[in-house]
Amino acid sequence: MSDCLFCKIIAGEIPSDQVYQDEQVIVFKDINPSAPVHLLVVPRLHIDSLNDMDDTHSELISHMMLLLPKIAKEQGLTGGFRTILNTGTEGGQLVFHLHIHLLGGKQLPGF
Ligand code: 5GP
Ligand code: ZN
Repeated sequence: MSDCLFCKIIAGEIPSDQVYQDEQVIVFKDINPSAPVHLLVVPRLHIDSLNDMDDTHSELISHMMLLLPKIAKEQGLTGGFRTILNTGTEGGQLVFHLHIHLLGGKQLPGF
């Protein structure tokens, strides 16, 4: 996906402020944070959105979900955190490379 912003970040072609990486995902700071901690958990594999996941991705999405509380703990989010996964244009998705937002560090407003 040569025209994908997050693929370029994963490839190191566009800089990002990374806080974690492993063989399956990278986690970096959102460029326009909505909370004191606002991270994006992004699979190295290009998948457009949750609509494009299937059973072959079950281990990957499980890994991403279980990583969230670990990253939150590392970031000191002892009071809790919010996760957001926007899907499709009407869902507010702007970057069509699957990602999970991880937000915290203050009392977040009701949704
Ligand atoms: P979406 O609306 O697709 O769920 O969220 C995309 C997120 O990517 C937005 O919160 C936006 O601020 C973030 N973003 C867009 N471009 C960049 C970038 O170049 N670098 C980083 N770190 N985040 C970005
Ligand atoms: Zn991509």
